[in-house]
Amino acid sequence: EIILAVETSCDETAAAVVQGGAHILSNVVASQIESHKRFGGVVPELASRHHTENITWTIEEAMEKAEVTFDDLDAVAVTEGPGLVGALLVGVNAAKAVAYARRLPLLPVHHISGHIQAARLERPWRYPALALVVSGGHTELVLLRDEGEYEVIGQTRDDAAGEAYDKVARTLELPYPGGPHIDKLAAEGTPNIELPIAWLEPDSYDFSFSGLKSAVINTLHNAKQRGETIRSEDLAASFQQSVITVLTEKTKRAADHYKVEQIVLAGGVAANKGLRTAMSNTFASSSVELTIPPFSLCTDNAAMIGAAAHVQWKKNITAGWDLNGVPGLALI
Ligand code: ATP
Ligand code: MG
Ligand code: FE
Repeated sequence: EIILAVETSCDETAAAVVQGGAHILSNVVASQIESHKRFGGVVPELASRHHTENITWTIEEAMEKAEVTFDDLDAVAVTEGPGLVGALLVGVNAAKAVAYARRLPLLPVHHISGHIQAARLERPWRYPALALVVSGGHTELVLLRDEGEYEVIGQTRDDAAGEAYDKVARTLELPYPGGPHIDKLAAEGTPNIELPIAWLEPDSYDFSFSGLKSAVINTLHNAKQRGETIRSEDLAASFQQSVITVLTEKTKRAADHYKVEQIVLAGGVAANKGLRTAMSNTFASSSVELTIPPFSLCTDNAAMIGAAAHVQWKKNITAGWDLNGVPGLALI
């Protein structure tokens, strides 16, 4: 089947055409980063306005690049949540309009299921599978006993991994979004600054990054007061090492405990070079298959929504014309 997918949950206006949940016919992303940069983060009102300006041409371009007509479509999929409500609504209403006009089923997609299912655009999976979701708003270990069945077995108790990256980057006066900048700096530094690793209770798959973030800020502050200089490369490397160690270790522990056959790395922080290398090394000698989507499918895009929509399509999970954007939508 051929699905037109739309994603507007945050600051990327995105549309894609995906065939059979595996083949990307087109994947168009209109990023708003330049507009939000000067505010150091996403401004919701601005995001909504940009989505409104960009949604029509983004969909048109996705259709053109895919070389399909609206008659070729079998369904229209859209991110229902979570995200910024004013941003979600633009995508939801655009998808509704196309689906209604063309009498096509409307498939509601959870943004995080999209991040996870991005991996199926790489290759098919085995189950049970475990997804490490690390993005701007989420840090979760999600167990999939079978296709499209999501069970959150651990999550952050405070900041998301991407949020911690962005806040630390801000402290180091790096531009927004800071994740890629820290990643680059870290590669040039040595992790020689002692920072905490939040293991939490021994049997917990939960995460915590706010203590680490505060430790980085305090380290910089104290050094400044003493008139010492700290190499930002080393601080970035030390921060990144703390994050990666806990993410990798807990993923390994959960993978062993639940005897999974497949691991999937998902979300914007999955674009992190250090994390990709650490995960590859950790699972290199095990029988567990590790799938890490290419960079462009880790950060927000609509192809991943089309991939997740394929699972909804098979299960016949559709939405009515009263579909709404749900900012706090739960993953089930
Ligand atoms: P969510 O998916 O939780 O709703 P979001 O959609 O805003 O949040 P994503 O677009 O998935 O988040 O990811 C963006 C985050 O990924 C930002 O915090 C960004 O700094 C981070 N990120 C992107 N590239 C890298 C990288 N190379 N290293 C670390 N972090 C990165
Ligand atoms: Mg984004
Ligand atoms: Fe996202």
